[in-house]
Amino acid sequence: MDKIIIKNLEVFANHGVFPEENVLGQKFVLSAVLFADTRTAGMTDALEYSIHYGEVSQYITKFMQEHTFKLIEAAAEQLAQELLLAFPRLQAIRLEVKKPWAPVGLPLETVSVEITRGWHTAYIALGSNMGDKQAYLDGAVEALRKTRGCRVEAVADYIVTEPYGGVEQDDFLNGALKLRTLLTPQELLLRLNEIEAEAGRERIVHWGPRTLDLDILLYDDAVIDTETLTVPHKELHLRDFVLVPLAQIAPHVRHPLLGRTIEELKMEVVR
Ligand code: ATP
Ligand code: MG
Ligand code: MG
Repeated sequence: MDKIIIKNLEVFANHGVFPEENVLGQKFVLSAVLFADTRTAGMTDALEYSIHYGEVSQYITKFMQEHTFKLIEAAAEQLAQELLLAFPRLQAIRLEVKKPWAPVGLPLETVSVEITRGWHTAYIALGSNMGDKQAYLDGAVEALRKTRGCRVEAVADYIVTEPYGGVEQDDFLNGALKLRTLLTPQELLLRLNEIEAEAGRERIVHWGPRTLDLDILLYDDAVIDTETLTVPHKELHLRDFVLVPLAQIAPHVRHPLLGRTIEELKMEVVR
């Protein structure tokens, strides 16, 4: 992707573990690589299609001066997040915070932290088969819309489906949504679990009745296998009640392990 680069912006600010640092202040030097598509700006010569590096530099300066962090890790993390939220064309950022006067009592040139953060695309499955099912699914969409660092970009039509997994229970209402997010997969799972809990979800019988089930189907092209998280969702390709709504909003997205598009996977399951 294209880059706009801000190199060695000096800011006098008050970050540090020692109380003196928070009062006296010292010099910080910041560099940012802004990842964005500059093609349209390049072809039209119009600033509105790009990211104004002057405004970004002002934003960085103000942010560093108005906050006090103990760690440059925290300064970098919070600043990267604020920039990604504030500048819509910014897809990702590599941010380095240098602290050349770090009080370590040794003649080092500088210490620094460098992080890369950005927007990710996730697809979430929604399901409910208790109470006011539509209200539970609508509530989940709304809760994600309000979550900091999350943007709901598309919501598929809900469909009514028969229960799965052999437990006798009411019909389901199922859906899928597309999310742009700054959260990591694990953070996203925790947030989904919170939203489930707020909807009164209790895990009594596996695959049993539930007010709300929110599963991560896909997260970029990530392949994840941990105790608590499997991505792509391990049964994504087997479930018509997932593939039908997902194919409505992501027909051409390719399953990173199976190499087939969602539309193709759907056609195999829906007959
Ligand atoms: P299924 O995963 O077969 O749809 P379920 O959604 O009913 O079943 P839950 O009780 O909601 O199962 O979740 C059980 C555990 O699955 C969760 O605690 C979570 O840690 C784990 N899990 C693994 N991968 C995922 C994923 N991709 N999305 C959501 N939860 C996941
Ligand atoms: Mg599930
Ligand atoms: Mg689940």
